[in-house]
Amino acid sequence: MKSKNYTLTTMPYSLTIGWLYPELMSTYGDRGNIIVLEKRCEWRGISAQVVNLDKGFNVKLFNDVDILFMGGAQDLQQKIVSDDFSKEKTKAFKKVMDWGLPGLYICGAYQFLGKYYKEANGNVIPGLGILDLRTEHPGEESERLIGNIVVEVDLVGLTPTTYEVEERKIEEKHIIVGFENHGGKTYLGENLKPFGQVMKGFGNNGKDKTEGAVYKNSIGTYLHGPILPKNPEIADWLIEKALERKYKKKIKLKKLDDFLSQKAKKVVLQKMSSY
Ligand code: GLN
Repeated sequence: MKSKNYTLTTMPYSLTIGWLYPELMSTYGDRGNIIVLEKRCEWRGISAQVVNLDKGFNVKLFNDVDILFMGGAQDLQQKIVSDDFSKEKTKAFKKVMDWGLPGLYICGAYQFLGKYYKEANGNVIPGLGILDLRTEHPGEESERLIGNIVVEVDLVGLTPTTYEVEERKIEEKHIIVGFENHGGKTYLGENLKPFGQVMKGFGNNGKDKTEGAVYKNSIGTYLHGPILPKNPEIADWLIEKALERKYKKKIKLKKLDDFLSQKAKKVVLQKMSSY
């Protein structure tokens, strides 16, 4: 039976946002993503609460959250987090991801979902092995992948947007912008879908033009920025997925006035219009 679409009315919807390692994994201002998720719920009358899942958190919390978020960090913090993640936590985390829990994992967090992260000195930090990917830092002398980045994504359910950049109309693509800063280069397994195709910048490894990865309703990406203030449609995608999973029905969020963020995106695109 075709599921009915519901527009969000004044029903008392609520969502719990789980923030993994806020003290350790938010080196590049990624906490801005939490603020966007909270605000874009609040502006629609959805009550949103944030629960911190910090070092030593109770594994049961995985069942109490509706969206998960984890930011980026330096190699040192990634090692501490890797040591903190027990086998039981990994199993529980994989289960909720398999059950479609929406999540956003930035840079070091994204790397952590894979098999391992090999540091510049050759030391290997074990990953969770949930996503079929591996990350290797090629060595201290290698270029750090830093700079503004433009990516074309094709998330199902994300409406394509038309952008005009210097009179060239770019249609039917969904363009997102952000800032990347990583030494590690990530390589996806053949069955793992990239989050998008790099139009300008480095992405996963500066070679295969892929950026990030998508697994069910989880997004891994190198885009700091933070990503959500610059691309609020991704926040709405996560919120709608969370509402659908929690209330077992499709709920279309009412549109917000995103004039400022879209204007900021256009400025970045114009600045990088050589792509
Ligand atoms: N330490 C990792 C790297 O340099 C991740 C950095 C980050 O999270 N921005 O690749």
